[in-house]
Amino acid sequence: MENIFGSTAQECAQIMKALGEPAYRGKQLFEWLYSKKATDFAEMTNLSKSLREKLAENFVLGHGTIVKCQEDPVDHTRKYLIALADGSCIETVLMSYHHGHSLCVSSQVGCSMGCAFCASTRGGKVRDLSAGEILDQIFLVEQDAGVRVANVVIMGIGEPLDNFDNVVKFIGLANEGLGIGQRKITLSTCGLVPQIEALADLDLQINLAISLHAPFQDRREILMPIAKKYSLNALIKVCNNYFTKTKRRITFEYALIDGFNDRPEDINELTALFKGVPCHINLIGLNPVTESVYKGSQNVNFFSDELKKRGLTCTIRRKIGDNIDAACGQLRLKHKENEER
Ligand code: SAH
Repeated sequence: MENIFGSTAQECAQIMKALGEPAYRGKQLFEWLYSKKATDFAEMTNLSKSLREKLAENFVLGHGTIVKCQEDPVDHTRKYLIALADGSCIETVLMSYHHGHSLCVSSQVGCSMGCAFCASTRGGKVRDLSAGEILDQIFLVEQDAGVRVANVVIMGIGEPLDNFDNVVKFIGLANEGLGIGQRKITLSTCGLVPQIEALADLDLQINLAISLHAPFQDRREILMPIAKKYSLNALIKVCNNYFTKTKRRITFEYALIDGFNDRPEDINELTALFKGVPCHINLIGLNPVTESVYKGSQNVNFFSDELKKRGLTCTIRRKIGDNIDAACGQLRLKHKENEER
């Protein structure tokens, strides 16, 4: 049976219509699911008992299960391993800042993009998450931690633009159902050019982040197989179109790798690439992944200072959750390996 959690306001109205009920019942159902956080049809007391029974005959109201939660003793970042209805596991990370709570959600079970430094892609993609399964990560963590999530970053396991429709539906649901404004949502992509174009056409107010990681085509191809399909030139072009259409400044993520992309020529090339482009560069310390040849750079501060000297806007991502495998699919990977042993 279909899970009713994840239905949009319009879908809730259609469900009620199909059951011979007036449209406003759809609104009540929507409120029960997202604002009142019902976990059972029986709780929906402003719907008649027979209607609740009819709903229960046609749908399930299901949520994932938190299998594990690790908290970093120093910065209190919490990493959750969540089991879905089919037994697949995903990760969600809750980060607490002085300005509020941010949640990093997964968009797929595994990932097929194959980036060389990323743990999420080992083992490939199992399947896409539904919009409800992405939203459920916020639902489950808010309940478990007793907090309200203010910001959402779609930077967990998976490539969100490889699951375009469900991710766009999720953004709508987070907005309408949980009251999280589009400007509080960041979508990070490895650079799927046609989907970035399609996203620009939707004219959303979300923040777009692009995983760049190298300013040279050949080096980017070594790190990110997707670069062979969509060149750096095509990516920069579509990003410029995106900015023209949405007026939203793009963030470029850059994980600094020792000797690979932290060289003087990388600084020069980045400067040339982004001169006059309204964007923001976010430098990331590489998180070590087992059996990877890539090591984190020691030059993060130097690199940042040099880019700033050349007029680029640049920040260094605060390293959090280091003690709890918080980065990029490492907890799921370890869990999977333990189960397979
Ligand atoms: N697929 C999307 C979102 C998930 S990855 C994307 O590629 O953007 C989220 C971010 O973490 C990306 O910038 C990704 O390149 C980065 N990342 C992955 N593994 C990493 C690692 N070991 N160290 C640092 N950043 C990493």
